[in-house]
Amino acid sequence: MDRLGNGIEAGRLAPGEYETNFADLHPRLDRHEALVAADRCYFCYDAPCMTACPTAIDVPLFIRQISTGNPLGSAKTIFDQNILGGMCARVCPTETLCEQACVRNTAEDRPVEIGKLQRYATDIAMETNRQFYERAASTGKTIAVVGAGPAGLAAAHRLARHGHGVVVFDAREKSGGLNEYGIATYKAVDEFARREVDYVTAIGGIEIRNGQALGRDFSLSDLGGRYDAIFLGMGLSGVNGLSVEGEDLRGVDDAVDFIAVLRQSPDKSLVPVGRRVVVIGGGMTAIDAAIQAKLLGAEEVTICYRRGKDNMNASGYEQDLATANGVIIRHWLAPKRILGEDGQVTGIEVEYTAMRDGRLIGTGETGVIAADQIMKAIGQTFAASGLSALQFEGGRIAIDLEGRTSIEGVWAGGDCVGLGEDLTVSAVAQGRDAAESINRALVVAGQPAMAVA
Ligand SMILES: Cc1cc2nc3c(=O)[nH]c(=O)nc-3n(C[C@H](O)[C@H](O)[C@H](O)COP(=O)(O)OP(=O)(O)OC[C@H]3O[C@@H](n4cnc5c(N)ncnc54)[C@H](O)[C@@H]3O)c2cc1C
Ligand code: SF4
Repeated sequence: MDRLGNGIEAGRLAPGEYETNFADLHPRLDRHEALVAADRCYFCYDAPCMTACPTAIDVPLFIRQISTGNPLGSAKTIFDQNILGGMCARVCPTETLCEQACVRNTAEDRPVEIGKLQRYATDIAMETNRQFYERAASTGKTIAVVGAGPAGLAAAHRLARHGHGVVVFDAREKSGGLNEYGIATYKAVDEFARREVDYVTAIGGIEIRNGQALGRDFSLSDLGGRYDAIFLGMGLSGVNGLSVEGEDLRGVDDAVDFIAVLRQSPDKSLVPVGRRVVVIGGGMTAIDAAIQAKLLGAEEVTICYRRGKDNMNASGYEQDLATANGVIIRHWLAPKRILGEDGQVTGIEVEYTAMRDGRLIGTGETGVIAADQIMKAIGQTFAASGLSALQFEGGRIAIDLEGRTSIEGVWAGGDCVGLGEDLTVSAVAQGRDAAESINRALVVAGQPAMAVA
């Protein structure tokens, strides 16, 4: 065993257990299962499922195509709207989007399994590398995309379809953004994120330059001088701190870093985890970090959230998944102080909270939870430098409804803007729509090359 300190160890499980624990959460439906699931759809004329999808996929049509034995046609219907439909089929919180809106989602019935059907069709197309789009004749324009996450990839693909050249710059070694570094391991197995990047870029005309960070290796005005337009899809690379005593102790980690290490580790038995882990937060990141800590063999994993169950950003389904994996979720607790010995975490002092006159307050009553690892999952922040010329709103890049920033010729989308929810599917929708806007500006309206100071 690789002993890293009080209770934080790698290799807590027997070798075979890692594969079992991190197996695909929802394996693909087989043909028969897909036909049975598709048969449950009423093909509603006003399809509320479609309205609930941020990328507006024609859900009844793609389900109908599965029913008629045409999964490739179904995949095309999905990709027409969402070129990352494969990842979205794996990670979308369908229980709060299309499946929540499904007319069969009633007390007596259950929604059509739209996410699983989407995965069925897209997997079939991607496994055979069936490409549906060709680039239009070259426009002679080249667009710089900053960030190779869902927003940047969706924008790049749509721009390539319109015949533009695209150069994507990404600060990290690998492309895919949080699909590669953040999504829970069991949602995207078998290097799906990497395979999806290959699938998206197979259209041609997209060059990705990794290890290139805006603000470090080049500036916005460098790009302005060289490209016809710019799309910023940089996500949120900073994380919020707890601002409590003891945050510097060994064993206090950012949940996103923990997940990134796990996602990138070729051997999960080498990833250290505490025996008793406390995760602070109430969103998807908190849930994913907690479940994965448990799957790595932590004995006791507790999520502490400062408000009630209904206030958690993580959906009811995600919360149930955590508790089904043995994670304890405790509400109305806020971190007060992290306790340690010899520089290493030994526990966390928490204060009970309550709502008084519409405000969250600490009640003064405290307790201690023993822990050798604390993970912070209380939100991410926009952290890029060198963008002071842009207007910001609520700490994120301000855009209009077309994705245009305050600087002419510069568009933005995904988590780095303050529009919509921080979800993979929303990032895809914003990247795609910004690409359409760029295309209109450059070609349809014949607007001249951009002007970035
Ligand atoms: C732990 C975690 C789990 C999640 N799970 C889910 C889930 O299950 N389902 C779901 O729908 N959503 C989930 N999300 C949210 C989802 O991952 C994001 O909403 C989505 O990835 C946003 O896409 P993006 O392209 O805007 O940003 P990102 O995916 O963050 O991609 C941004 C890219 O920009 C690059 N970049 C950053 N700064 C620079 C720079 N200065 N120069 C060049 N490149 C730069 C980054 O390296 C990165 O590749 C999760 C988020 C986290 C943190
Ligand atoms: S709402 Fe449900 S039943 Fe109606 S079209 Fe959508 S998936 Fe089918």
